[in-house]
Amino acid sequence: MEHLNEVIESLSKGKMKTNIKRYERSFTIHDNVHLMMIRVDNEKSIIAAGKGKLFDELSGETIVEKGKNCPLSHENRLVLNKYFDYTVPKAFGTKTATIGLGDRLGLASPGHIQTVEEKGIKPILAQQSIRELTLTNRTMEEMIDAASFAVFQEGYKGGFGADGDHIKEGADIENALSLGCSMITLDCSDHIYNSIEHANDHEIVTEYEKLSDEIQHYYNNNYLDKTFNVDDLSLTFNQITLMKNVLLYHEAIHYTCCIYDEYITKAEREIDFELSIDETETITSPLSHFFVANELKRHNITITSLAPRFCGEFQKGIDYIGDVHQFEVELREHALIAAHFGYKLSIHSGSDKFKVYPIIAKHTKGIYHVKTAGTNWLEAVRVIATVNPNLYRKMHTFALENFSEAQKHYHVTPNMSTVLPLEEVKDNELPNYMNNDAARQLFHITYGLLLVKKDQVGDYLFRNDVFGTLNDREEEYNKALVKHIGKHLELLGL
Ligand SMILES: [Zn+2]
Repeated sequence: MEHLNEVIESLSKGKMKTNIKRYERSFTIHDNVHLMMIRVDNEKSIIAAGKGKLFDELSGETIVEKGKNCPLSHENRLVLNKYFDYTVPKAFGTKTATIGLGDRLGLASPGHIQTVEEKGIKPILAQQSIRELTLTNRTMEEMIDAASFAVFQEGYKGGFGADGDHIKEGADIENALSLGCSMITLDCSDHIYNSIEHANDHEIVTEYEKLSDEIQHYYNNNYLDKTFNVDDLSLTFNQITLMKNVLLYHEAIHYTCCIYDEYITKAEREIDFELSIDETETITSPLSHFFVANELKRHNITITSLAPRFCGEFQKGIDYIGDVHQFEVELREHALIAAHFGYKLSIHSGSDKFKVYPIIAKHTKGIYHVKTAGTNWLEAVRVIATVNPNLYRKMHTFALENFSEAQKHYHVTPNMSTVLPLEEVKDNELPNYMNNDAARQLFHITYGLLLVKKDQVGDYLFRNDVFGTLNDREEEYNKALVKHIGKHLELLGL
């Protein structure tokens, strides 16, 4: 530690910087090398002091003899991964509850770690869909780097995952696996035949008869007029329900098999493989869930979790919309089916669904995967509204002006008349916007535009100010996350 202090001191003298923040929890020793994360202004780095292979492999600026300042680069992340196993994303399997905590800015993971450590749930700290990465100009490498460095910063040794989220194409899965993702969520919604949902019986029969004799024979033989018992559930396929399920999911199941054989089985490490059938209009009935699960089993596909599309609406950033009683009835059946096949039920767009969390915890017996993503961004906006009212006002105005553009990417139905006009709200009341559902959704879906939009001379409109403010107010942001994500865990009974 002594030598480390020397390095930090000479750094502060050399750079005339007195304002150096030390992340004490990151302090660690490997062989003769001492490491600690620090921050100078808005720039975090790792100070290394000592000698040995680890010291030589970390790249950085030499400050004194046997002391250097190492940037949070991708290369240095890989070096940390090599020496400190806790900084490597890992799979958790089916026996542990997990929570996806997608971090849109790459700043939320320390707060997320502080929320989940010591709790009976494991965090998937890196989790972004291709859509989110594209909208924020981030790469999957940056996403995993940020999570690994956050784990190092917090000295968190409980393990974390990285989810290549809602991936549709094989090439993207290959890429995510090569970068170190420990979880893959396959979104097979493009292969679900949604329009059959609205077809009448005659149309269903006509469509079904277009399938090859072999396929028809296979499904008729295995399902027609057969009853399957799952715990106290009794599931029977009559001619029409069978045909409909085959038409809806046959292609998606086939696609899942191809992806599984081509990529998941070939990964040379454990992978949490999640199947998402939720990104469609078709609500997954328990019978359909059973059908998909049973087919996966017949094809020897092992999944870690499955995300059905539940009844009601899981809109981004706000509580559950719909009939809670009906949700409970169906969730119980979905949970029984998942337990029967030995995987976890996964709940997507899970942030802020406080009404249904106790139900989820109860019927899954505490074994589930819940995904949250944008809610940490809304907490970031709340912090900005509190500490930088001017910036908040500009962002709010911009978000309103660009709302319809953002709606092309997300399904939300906010009642905008409930959002108070900005000029009527005093500075100290600005954070209250984040308690209004419509304002939450306004910010939830305009994040991409807010973060990447540039002015005429090519400077970011908000990005630098957003990052600057949140870096400055790091502790406030962490606290806000511990409070808000903590509420989720509490309602899940943790
Ligand atoms: Zn989903």
